[in-house]
Amino acid sequence: MIPAAFDYQAPASVEEALQLLSGGGDTEIKVLAGGQSLLPVLKMRLAAPDLVVDLAKIPGLTGIREDGDRIVVGAMTTHHEVANDPLVAEHLLLLQEAAKTVADPQVRHRGTLGGALVHADPAGDLLAPVLALDAELVISGAAGRRTVPAAEFFQGLFTTAVGEDEILTEIRFPRHTGWGARYEKFTRVVQQWSVVSVAASVRMDGGAIAEAVVALTNMGSTPIRASSVEQALAGCAATAEAVGAAVAGVAEGTSPPADLNGDADYRRQLAVVLARRAVLAAAGVS
Ligand SMILES: Cc1cc2nc3c(=O)[nH]c(=O)nc-3n(C[C@H](O)[C@H](O)[C@H](O)COP(=O)(O)OP(=O)(O)OC[C@H]3O[C@@H](n4cnc5c(N)ncnc54)[C@H](O)[C@@H]3O)c2cc1C
Repeated sequence: MIPAAFDYQAPASVEEALQLLSGGGDTEIKVLAGGQSLLPVLKMRLAAPDLVVDLAKIPGLTGIREDGDRIVVGAMTTHHEVANDPLVAEHLLLLQEAAKTVADPQVRHRGTLGGALVHADPAGDLLAPVLALDAELVISGAAGRRTVPAAEFFQGLFTTAVGEDEILTEIRFPRHTGWGARYEKFTRVVQQWSVVSVAASVRMDGGAIAEAVVALTNMGSTPIRASSVEQALAGCAATAEAVGAAVAGVAEGTSPPADLNGDADYRRQLAVVLARRAVLAAAGVS
């Protein structure tokens, strides 16, 4: 289908973009990043904005850099860049693992980390790693910049802390240097969205897991941090038996969807299996 007609602006700075977003009145305005989620929405006429504000010409919103003890990813950085960046590989292996599983090369060359996070599809593959890695999200608006922890960013189905007149500009990560990682994604066919996935990263000390972070994709309307499992894994031997026991409760308190890919009980069972696989692989035991 063809989208409804809209005006198009490609501002050259964040300030100019914010001016466009705040000057709307009753006008419906949408921000455009890689277009991999927005364009299908427009084509299906699920949205019909009067104005589309394209972020592509704003310098400084792309790229990956070090900033003190943080690794900073610009919101307009593509999934392909995230999946192939040496800083991400060294310090944020979990994010790299997950970015490699997004869709196909064509989508990964257009879609952006910021777009995926603001779109906040519960089956999106980059939300759980961002939550597990304790990222902070920097949002720019008329009142200036504010930083929101990932735990407060995802607020509901397709809903985040980013207001309609705001722009997500960068994502800041604490380094997880030397941590093992695995994004265990379950799909029925290749290049599909997650039925369920588990993001796990561990810091090993000798043969045991010293620290672990675990988060779940598509087990509720937002990504879910498995905090009690993380506690059970701290100090746990990296054996199938011990890890299996530590992750057994990973689906407790979740509200997975039911659809043609599987009912809620199937997804709960899947989460336990995938969590065990993900943690063991992250610990170097397969
Ligand atoms: C065929 C296909 C398969 C896919 N499979 C997967 C998959 O397996 N796993 C997966 O995770 N994803 C998948 N995706 C989605 C893909 O990851 C998208 O790139 C992502 O969801 C949106 O990123 P985008 O840059 O294209 O954002 P856009 O589509 O441009 O924007 C998405 C939304 O976010 C808003 N937005 C974007 N950037 C900003 C910003 N910086 N500040 C404020 N608001 C912003 C837009 O206004 C819009 O509402 C798939 C997409 C397609 C087309």
